[in-house]
Amino acid sequence: MIRGLRCTSCETAYPLEPLYECNQCGSILKADYDYERIGIKWAESGVDTEDLLPLPAAERVSIGEGNTPLVKSDRLAKRLGLRHLYLKCEFANPSGAFKDRPVSMGVSMAVKFGYGRIIVASSGNGAAATSAFAARAGLEAVVLVPEPTPQEKVKQSLAYGARVVKVEGPYSNSFAVAKEIGEKYNMFNVTSTFINPYTVEGDKNVAFELHRQLKNVPDVIYVPIGAGPLLVGIFNGYEELKRLGVTGALPRMAGIQAEGCSPIARAYLEGRDQVQSDPSPRTIAGGICDGLHGYAKDGTYTLETILRSGGFANYVADEEIRAAQSWLAQDEGMFVEPSSAVSIAELVHSVKAGRVKPDSVVVAVLTGHGLKDMTQVQTEMNAPLIPNRAQALADLLGV
Ligand SMILES: [Zn+2]
Repeated sequence: MIRGLRCTSCETAYPLEPLYECNQCGSILKADYDYERIGIKWAESGVDTEDLLPLPAAERVSIGEGNTPLVKSDRLAKRLGLRHLYLKCEFANPSGAFKDRPVSMGVSMAVKFGYGRIIVASSGNGAAATSAFAARAGLEAVVLVPEPTPQEKVKQSLAYGARVVKVEGPYSNSFAVAKEIGEKYNMFNVTSTFINPYTVEGDKNVAFELHRQLKNVPDVIYVPIGAGPLLVGIFNGYEELKRLGVTGALPRMAGIQAEGCSPIARAYLEGRDQVQSDPSPRTIAGGICDGLHGYAKDGTYTLETILRSGGFANYVADEEIRAAQSWLAQDEGMFVEPSSAVSIAELVHSVKAGRVKPDSVVVAVLTGHGLKDMTQVQTEMNAPLIPNRAQALADLLGV
């Protein structure tokens, strides 16, 4: 029951149209729903979160995204000193990352609006997701990635048949080129920062699923953040559930970054309400290596959401990320890319500092699969080669 779009700053209302910012003030746009009608319908026939999405399921381009597992952590939780740690396995989406959710919504709107071509700027996961969903929809996809994007993500995007182009410099350069060319040549821009107001609506489904899977609202949800649309989408989803009387509480949102690219965390830690961009970010967590150069307002918007939730932001060092990546693999059997591991790395600090209690209900969102970024797997990992004799293995194992 979407009504249209509304400016998050001056509240100007717009109809459902391909629009990337408020024409009046240039601020971020957000989907606007008829909550009164939804409330009446839900009171009569039960909760149906489909009413809080911009398109009905039958009109969405889908490859079976969403409905990802929520797994209760056992060994890793013990290691961290937590009793109720849940891992939301977004790496189980069809393209191997959470981006399938926002991109499904963006590509569906491109079809609705009659576009033949879509364009995206991505650090890799959005590139693969856009390529996959464009293929599914029969649309042409122009995919811009920064030069250091892992080969796995580039090849995956190429495999789906997309036009993949590397742009020199950091992610923000890809973002600027996609924005300009998309507007000039009528390609729908599904970049999942906050430029496309429909994509973030797909992220809300994480909240709706968590609500069904957990029954209760978790105390804290840890989300790796670049610009932060996943974190904002999840909190928007919970706010809507609360507004409609489905839940009484809201989770605190923890936005976690890497030390070498931490504009939002630094603003939080320094008590600033405006995020400043970082023109030359550098970290092994490529999926969240977004310096927000030219669109620091997106970071400010995410920071506002974190503060509104009573949550916090922080950053962790690359070495801590590597350790957390190993724990997830070796304690839980979950091989994730470095960006996904930042939440677990931060949880070590959170427990020590009392930001979470041992009996807090904590959800960590694991955003992308480890196979997507094999170059960051520790290089000393090597399998020994033995002669083709059983005894050679016995000797090696010392059995
Ligand atoms: Zn406005």
